[in-house]
Amino acid sequence: TPAETTPAKKVLLAAPRGYCAGVDRAVVTVEKALELYGAPVYVRKQIVHNKHVVQTLERRGAIFVDETDEVPEGATVIFSAHGVAPVVHEEAAARSLKTIDATCPLVTKVHREAVRFADEDYDILLIGHEGHEEVVGTAGEAPDHVTLVDGPDDVDNVTVRDPEKVVWLSQTTLSVDETMETVDRLKQRFPALQSPPSDDICYATQNRQLAVKKMAKDTDLMIVVGSRNSSNSVRLVEVALEHGARAGHLVDYADELDEAWLEGVSTVGVTSGASVPEVLVRDVLTWLAERGYADVEAVVAAEETLLFSLPTELRRDLKARK
Ligand code: SF4
Repeated sequence: TPAETTPAKKVLLAAPRGYCAGVDRAVVTVEKALELYGAPVYVRKQIVHNKHVVQTLERRGAIFVDETDEVPEGATVIFSAHGVAPVVHEEAAARSLKTIDATCPLVTKVHREAVRFADEDYDILLIGHEGHEEVVGTAGEAPDHVTLVDGPDDVDNVTVRDPEKVVWLSQTTLSVDETMETVDRLKQRFPALQSPPSDDICYATQNRQLAVKKMAKDTDLMIVVGSRNSSNSVRLVEVALEHGARAGHLVDYADELDEAWLEGVSTVGVTSGASVPEVLVRDVLTWLAERGYADVEAVVAAEETLLFSLPTELRRDLKARK
């Protein structure tokens, strides 16, 4: 009606968003390996869970396989950022594959915790999503000691050998709040439950969720750029909705955006998962600007400066070439 003024259209842009240190390192590892050894370079599983990244690397000569037995004897294979169970290293060695391990150091940290607690004969309750590659890798460090707990509703199904000797660990990319709920429920059942020595949910996952929480209640529509199989990206949509965003959608590309989502929307929140290149966010911002949402305001929850050095195997070969 003419008496009403339409609220101004604007975008809240989350910071931090997009690439974390572990993803950056994994993607650069594949790029450098292609330069150094030439195509093809084999990669076990998606190097990071992003469609665009995988397709781009495929075009440059990376071949993504599910298991090492699909890699020709003697060829080079890169292990993805999500980590692998020790048995995968053994299989690769048995086929004389040259391996480069792009497992994120923060995932490796959780592997080490699993090994240590298993050595001390703890029951390890690993909170994570059933079937996720990271969980398969971490559990594979100590298959006889690890029980998967897939969220708060799974707690009642857990059995342990000795309730006095139980520790929880987690996948790195979970919802912080939901994990705390799972831990609370586990503590009710096992009061002696020990916590990991330091946070297993990584800094990047935590910071991206913090930024979304900060803007969610002011947001009519939250757009998260990321792939369906990206755990941390999917969590961002959930966190937005739990904290007051009125609607939320996950998209791989700007061309999946739907004009109907904009009906009655004045503020659009935008963020992206830890495996998402910034160019895809730019495309979303352009699409929004073309529809009147050109005013972009940053919502900053944290500064990130962490960088990881490339895998040792690769650094050694890069150095030898010089
Ligand atoms: Fe590493 Fe966290 Fe990035 Fe996963 S999301 S690659 S654990 S920094």
